[in-house]
Amino acid sequence: MATLRLEVVTPDKTVVKSEVEMVVCPGVEGEFGVLSKHISLLSALKIGVLRYRISSKDEYVFISGGFADVNNNVLTVLAESAEIACDIDTARAQNARERAEKRMAVQDDTVDAARAEAALQRAIMRLNVAVRR
Ligand code: ATP
Repeated sequence: MATLRLEVVTPDKTVVKSEVEMVVCPGVEGEFGVLSKHISLLSALKIGVLRYRISSKDEYVFISGGFADVNNNVLTVLAESAEIACDIDTARAQNARERAEKRMAVQDDTVDAARAEAALQRAIMRLNVAVRR
């Protein structure tokens, strides 16, 4: 099957660098798929799950939002943080979820609700990816 190159990069490391059969990205306006020879594209990504197919098997990656750039059969994802399923520390994500839920339960000026909501989304998405390992 025709392939494209997928590179998922954070400020710390390259998380994925593979020839893959297809990718589904969590775009801010909805999920979108990318196959070999896709037209050039630049899209913002939201906190979510990136899925790619390699040797007919699906793999899952947590993405904390960022950008996807498709050019010359290469899809580059730049994310603040990203982890493949087996690198996710489930206990840490559960703690992060509990912390965020407690913050969101407090409704006063000391809590940045948008920040707590984003932390909760990251934790939930990490837990969703972790079960795919
Ligand atoms: P926490 O509150 O647990 O730090 P966070 O959502 O604030 O979670 P981020 O700011 O998204 O964390 O990430 C900071 C760094 O920690 C990144 O390098 C990210 O890959 C890593 N990281 C965060 N949570 C986890 C996790 N559950 N498992 C593995 N790595 C994680």
